[in-house]
Amino acid sequence: MSSQEQLLEGLNGPQHEAVTHGGGPLLIVAGAGSGKTRVLTHRIAYLMAARGVRPGEILAITFTNKAAAEMRERISALLGARAAASMWTMTFHSACVRILRREAHRLGYPSGFTIYDSADSARLMQLVCKEMDLDPKRFPPKSFSAQISNLKNELVDYDTFAEQAQTEQEKKLAEAYKLYQRRLHEAGAMDFDDLIMVTVNLLQMFPDVAEHYRRRFRHVMVDEYQDTNHAQYVFIRRLVGVESDPDTAVVPPSELCVVGDADQSIYAFRGATIRNILEFERDFPNARTILLEQNYRSTQTILSAANAVIERNEGRPAKNLWSEQGQGTPIVGYVADNEHDEAAFVVGEIDQLTDDGSITPSQVAVFYRTNAQSRVFEDVFIRMGLPYKIVGGVRFYERKEIRDILAYLRVLANPEDTVSLRRILNVPKRGIGARAEESLELFAARERITFARALRRVDEVPAMATRSVNAVRNFTALLDELAAGVPGSTPSQIVEMVLAKTGYLSELTESKDIQDESRVENLEEFVDVAREFENTFSALLEDEAALEGEEGPGTVEEAEPTLVDFLERISLVADTDQLPDADAEGGVVTLMTLHSAKGLEFPVVFLTGLEDGVFPHMRTLGDKTQLEEERRLAYVGLTRAERLLYVSRAAVRSAWGSPSYNPASRFLDEIPPSLVDWRRGEATVLSAPPGRGIGGARRGSGFGGEGFGGTFGSRKTTARTTEAPSLSVGDLVNHDSFGMGRVQLVEGSGDKTKARVDFGADIGEKDFLVKYAPIEKL
Ligand code: ATP
Ligand code: MG
Repeated sequence: MSSQEQLLEGLNGPQHEAVTHGGGPLLIVAGAGSGKTRVLTHRIAYLMAARGVRPGEILAITFTNKAAAEMRERISALLGARAAASMWTMTFHSACVRILRREAHRLGYPSGFTIYDSADSARLMQLVCKEMDLDPKRFPPKSFSAQISNLKNELVDYDTFAEQAQTEQEKKLAEAYKLYQRRLHEAGAMDFDDLIMVTVNLLQMFPDVAEHYRRRFRHVMVDEYQDTNHAQYVFIRRLVGVESDPDTAVVPPSELCVVGDADQSIYAFRGATIRNILEFERDFPNARTILLEQNYRSTQTILSAANAVIERNEGRPAKNLWSEQGQGTPIVGYVADNEHDEAAFVVGEIDQLTDDGSITPSQVAVFYRTNAQSRVFEDVFIRMGLPYKIVGGVRFYERKEIRDILAYLRVLANPEDTVSLRRILNVPKRGIGARAEESLELFAARERITFARALRRVDEVPAMATRSVNAVRNFTALLDELAAGVPGSTPSQIVEMVLAKTGYLSELTESKDIQDESRVENLEEFVDVAREFENTFSALLEDEAALEGEEGPGTVEEAEPTLVDFLERISLVADTDQLPDADAEGGVVTLMTLHSAKGLEFPVVFLTGLEDGVFPHMRTLGDKTQLEEERRLAYVGLTRAERLLYVSRAAVRSAWGSPSYNPASRFLDEIPPSLVDWRRGEATVLSAPPGRGIGGARRGSGFGGEGFGGTFGSRKTTARTTEAPSLSVGDLVNHDSFGMGRVQLVEGSGDKTKARVDFGADIGEKDFLVKYAPIEKL
């Protein structure tokens, strides 16, 4: 068989057509898993093998760097590494950077221009607003940044915007936009959005440049086309040269092939517009559309669930996506009492699936709606020694906002902690700049005192501007105020105090930036961490006392956990050395948000947190358009699964340290019941308990504080009401305070049965009389 035939073998009819299509623009629209990405890679290979196209003539755009790497891999598998290396397979941003490095000088930028990330550009915007003497309360720099980003995605320059500006807000924004661009330009820098916008300007203003790239890239391909924004769309148009007349143009238009699925458009909040896909035929003359209908990824059960959910969105053309994989296994449903219980269930299942070797960890993915939800999973994975990685995100305790707050807590526990002190010196911004910090450092060195002492003697520091001196004084006054609040407060109260008094939280909540919303969620989660710690702390002492032979719960003196205890526990969990080996054989389980899951596939998928208010996200509940976007996100999540799909929710989930009772996600209700096998269809806690309310309820129900080696479920109270479980070595158990562990040793019988359980590195091994221990076999 020739290599050409090999490339085409195994493609279905429409896929074959798409791969071999030549000439005018081609749009492939199709549901998830129908081989769109596969068609793109095969098309690239086919172009080279059958049509003599050189790799350098191809530009293939993917949505993420990870997707680009995957495509390169697939291509090198088909055609060898050399072909893959000389081809441009990359994201919009990387492609534009490459073009700009060569051409930016034409627009007055140095070829070594700096790229500002979002933190850099936020800082610049702050300077701009200050320079304009804007009141940050009325004109928050963050909101300006977000709006300017939107304008750039729409290719609206500051002059155009200034002409339309009417309100004072808009006028100031226009002014700030102009000044911001000027400062960027002076600094020889571009922000992320500039990368696309400036490239578009370049192609527009310099026809010879556009022609050069059109000559170079005779074939342009775009994956995930539904998530392109206006600027990216225009970039493609300019590059391909749609407007040029094929008969007279020096360089005729390049061949364009885009693939996408309007049902998977999940970036409208970043300016992506389904319009680009819906109006493709109108925008690109002679365009041809090919539909793919066979799904090769999932079982029919998974597909039917996904179809049933997405059908609820209005105004979408009906699709007929089908699979030949057979019905497969039913979807597994699980209603957990709380988020810890949910994590325990997920990890327990993964443990079982991977135990018998039928599934490797790398074949499993756990999805959640918001970054903050990863924390509870991470804790359980770490404690169980199950290797995992977080894709498209940072581990919880490494996130900036968590590290910032931890630095405050460390300074409160140890005022001399220089590293932490310097981290928070100007966070949130309080006018202590790098120069002032340097002077303080020099002063401290000269006087042989600590940085903390130097702060207190700021008056004596030479060459300090009065403004900086005042700023430092305000800072030390703030530290004193915080320190005064520490005695008599619990760790969670201290965390809340720090968040409020420093202004850290309000700065984030006032922001319009979607990233800051995620930061707020992480901080909320951190308050929960502290609350969990407090609850498990006394439980741990009780259990220890019980083991020492003292009377049961209640007899132990109330021990109040201190800030130092809390920090000690955190450093154990946050210590990256403890992370399971990421190179473990069989790979690692992937944890990620639904947004990062786009385009990927896994044999086993856990879709967690299916609660109204979590997913769909709270912010979207009252807005039909946004709810539809959430539903598309659900569709993306469901269709990642190949064989085994789990859907779960928690009846109670903590928010700011208090439980919130969320109803089942509407998306869960939209899955036909016949497709789901409910492993556990109801929680034991269904409504807010009377009496003390929340704290009492959580504690009384065996509070699931496994963040620190505590429990998962709130299924039991400490006093056992059910039969003692019969245990054998190797069993996985769940202890109300110590969490999940594995049985190492069983001796004795009947009421005298004793078990030794290993709870992982944090807690170690513990011995129990099985009859009295608050443990449950998993
Ligand atoms: P998504 O919308 O999620 O991005 P997609 O349409 O890009 O999905 P692919 O990822 O290209 O779909 O394909 C899904 C899976 O089906 C892949 O594992 C792919 O290898 C397989 N597949 C696609 N077409 C065929 C085919 N004709 N024969 C066998 N397997 C196929
Ligand atoms: Mg794809």
